[in-house]
Amino acid sequence: MKIKNIIEVLESWAPLKLQESYDNSGLIVGAPHWETNGVLVALDCLESVVDEAISKGIHLVVTHHPIVFNGLKKFNGSNYVERVVMKAIKHDVALYAIHTNLDNVAWGVNGKIMDVLGISSHVVLSPAQGMLRKFQVYVPVEGAEELAKAVYSAGGGKISNYEACSFKSIGEGTFKPISGASPVIGSVGKHEYVQEAKIEFMVPSFACQAVELAARASHPYEEMAYDWIDLVNTTPEYGAGALGVLKEPVDFMSFLRQVKSEFGATIKYTKPIKDLVKTVAVCGGSGSFLLDAAKRANADVLITSDFKYHDYFDADNSICILDIGHYESERFTIDLITERLSKKFPKFAVLKTEVNTNPIQYY
Ligand SMILES: [Zn+2]
Repeated sequence: MKIKNIIEVLESWAPLKLQESYDNSGLIVGAPHWETNGVLVALDCLESVVDEAISKGIHLVVTHHPIVFNGLKKFNGSNYVERVVMKAIKHDVALYAIHTNLDNVAWGVNGKIMDVLGISSHVVLSPAQGMLRKFQVYVPVEGAEELAKAVYSAGGGKISNYEACSFKSIGEGTFKPISGASPVIGSVGKHEYVQEAKIEFMVPSFACQAVELAARASHPYEEMAYDWIDLVNTTPEYGAGALGVLKEPVDFMSFLRQVKSEFGATIKYTKPIKDLVKTVAVCGGSGSFLLDAAKRANADVLITSDFKYHDYFDADNSICILDIGHYESERFTIDLITERLSKKFPKFAVLKTEVNTNPIQYY
């Protein structure tokens, strides 16, 4: 299978445009046309993981964390990043990272954590701003349905659990072709009055270009009249962290034991504020930036990692912070990616790494 077929699945799930500005998700080593007979999935891309791929004859490693964040100027093996890249290139092993773009979709890293906790429905804790635009397009009435279908197939018109959403109004469009025009309706120098539909769609920002191209390809006119409008609406589908409610409230120590056991974690936590835990906020990886959002949402606990000493004080008797470790909070991301790819390619080898890539030892 070509690597690009696997990338298409990953990026239709977690579009690259959802990654944070500091991130480097995407294809880091290799080319989309490379062939691979399997995928090796890991949290971190270490030399031992590339060795594992080589020994198993696999030419694509998909990890959550990118091996390269900053530019590389030399390739002489003086650090582990250079060594990983050099080895991957030498053995035709492509490296792909699906990082903060997978953090920023509702059914990504944090949805999986909710799943492990037995919380079946959740919302994004901090919805991304500026994620939605409205696309309004004017088209002769008879071409409206075909154009709408083209927009839907390019990713427009989806609102939460509903797809093919649009609003259509009918009116009169007017125009006068001038010299140089090749009008489909009417002729140069003559005013035209045409019954047209105005169709409106919500479009996520990462799909705008594809939607506009699809609409143009389907539109019968030489020039398509349309508007893009920025919206202040947010969507529960995209953003950081997740918020959910346990089926039954659980006493704090039982909840702590459950988290410790499920995630294999050594937990650092602040003073419990309630005897029972019900509302849970989570963020895989470094999630201290979501403390205020979790407090605003009245979460009883925030499960995340990488809190600094002074930041624990900000719990301030209004939430309990559970710092379970970065690796531990994201360990199920390996299952998440593997399950998604295996479902899409049931006859293809999608393997979980056998390497524990956690750099931290516990005493
Ligand atoms: Zn992480």
